[in-house]
Amino acid sequence: MSKVQVTDVILRDAHQSLIATRMRTEDMLPICDKLDQVGYWSLEVWGGATFDACVRFLKEDPWERLRELRKALPNTRLQMLLRGQNLLGYRHYADDVVEAFVAKAAENGIDVFRVFDALNDLRNLETAIKAVKKANKHAQATICYTTSPVHTLDLFVEQAQALKDMGADSIAIKDMAGLLTPYATYDLVKAIKDHVDLPLFIHSHSTAGLAPLCQLKAIEAGAEHIDTAISSFASGTSHPATESQVAALKGTQWDTGLDLELLTEIADYFREVRKKYHQFESEFTKEDVSVQINQVPGGMMSNLANQLKEQQALDRIRDVFAEIPRVREDLGFPPLVTPTSQIVGTQAVMNVLAGERYKTITNEVKRYLQGGYGHPPAPVNPDVRTKAIGKEEVIDGRPADALGAEMSRLRTEIGELAKSEEDVLTYAMFQDIGKQFLEQREAGTLVPEALEAPISNSAKASASTSTEFKIDVHGETYQVEITGVGGDSTGKRHVYLTLDGVPEEVLFESLNEYEGDANSGNKRSKASGPGDITTGMPGNIVDVLVNVDDDVIAGQSVLITEAMKMETEIQAPIAGKVAGVYVSKGDRVTPGETLVEIVPH
Ligand code: MN
Repeated sequence: MSKVQVTDVILRDAHQSLIATRMRTEDMLPICDKLDQVGYWSLEVWGGATFDACVRFLKEDPWERLRELRKALPNTRLQMLLRGQNLLGYRHYADDVVEAFVAKAAENGIDVFRVFDALNDLRNLETAIKAVKKANKHAQATICYTTSPVHTLDLFVEQAQALKDMGADSIAIKDMAGLLTPYATYDLVKAIKDHVDLPLFIHSHSTAGLAPLCQLKAIEAGAEHIDTAISSFASGTSHPATESQVAALKGTQWDTGLDLELLTEIADYFREVRKKYHQFESEFTKEDVSVQINQVPGGMMSNLANQLKEQQALDRIRDVFAEIPRVREDLGFPPLVTPTSQIVGTQAVMNVLAGERYKTITNEVKRYLQGGYGHPPAPVNPDVRTKAIGKEEVIDGRPADALGAEMSRLRTEIGELAKSEEDVLTYAMFQDIGKQFLEQREAGTLVPEALEAPISNSAKASASTSTEFKIDVHGETYQVEITGVGGDSTGKRHVYLTLDGVPEEVLFESLNEYEGDANSGNKRSKASGPGDITTGMPGNIVDVLVNVDDDVIAGQSVLITEAMKMETEIQAPIAGKVAGVYVSKGDRVTPGETLVEIVPH
């Protein structure tokens, strides 16, 4: 009866926390037979980041992945993580989208829905939990754990009780940053178990190296369920190793009953798989107790490291970590989890790289300060709010109440490209990327991002001389040799190569795309004058709001850029006339280049 049950997160959170969510379905399916024999309570297989990575990078249909996993794992509950009213996206959806999404996820194979809201604003969980109950599936309501002057034991107990009243089948404590300490865990679990009679799950990242100890104390305090990751994808910013926790409980009243030998075989398999994705490994995924100070969750840490690496500012990562708690306090202590982790993280990056706090404020921070995500846990910094939204009104109601039904509009917008309701939902989740995915599928041009050759392959190390390497696409290996490169007058870059001995020519639209390097040559001139508008972060142009010869006033928005999935409006630094617009929608841009030029009158 007191047996502890295990949820393995290998197919979702483990690779999200360690290799930027890049594991492909082809590396999951061969081991499903063994995974299905283990006797896990559930396997976590789906969530916002896996869906996003499928569509954005892997060019896989995430619904198809789910159906394949369902088929390959007939005896194990499949679990997903759902961001409440945000579903898998980064904005609030109308209730009809939430209902349609949950129904389709259930139909395609999800048994357990772990539902959370980044602010623990429980109004944002209601519709999703109701929809899960309607689909006759397990509704697991989640409390995002964080520490702050307002996050007391009483508050967490009160929230757990409210979630039970809402119809939750179980409660999960989601410690995405690895903030829990063993004795705090004991007190928290004990307090909730004393007041709320529901099964309790502990999801705690090993970021500070404490999660295995926290789980032990949670079990002693009455928690029945733990989240673990198979050892080859465990520890650090991921989760306690499944085998270690199983071994720790063996022979006790909490014995999980899982077979260590079978688990070891599964670990051996994933150890090999991990090598394939070495390019996504970050040095910031090992244990680091500084998380107890800066509260950065694992997934966010590896994403921030990747983003900073891209703009050659990895040396500023400690500054960004120091800025994060300051931004978080300004925003009323939100727990750091998607989307608040991106909102706070991106703003912190901007505050650091711009050399001035809140010089640029992302649209998401504006929306947040306006109440667009729900109630912040504590009052926000009024000065920052004024700077962000001026005299605009703050919304107090549930954000989704301001939204009319959306499904029919989405269906019309995507039209023939959608072959199913699932396709409409893919578009709903990730508008531009989703549409691009459906277009490429229609045209038969879906190509997953390339993987680097394994480190053991000496070709990579000597690429600068031999320019010969192997790439692996969808399980097939190609021999590639670069035979020549050149540019043309339009700024396009030609790369000549042979693919398995057959000559090919690859055309890159811009030098940036080819170079992948913010500091090397590009066709836009370097920003120097006071009216030269540039960007603080490498990203994409979402919209251009001015034309040549327009008159602009200082502070007027001229561009909308997107970086790290956050949109930012770039304002005119001076009043004057627009003398040049050097970007258009969809362009990739890097800091330092002149995007728009304004000359004073
Ligand atoms: Mn997690």
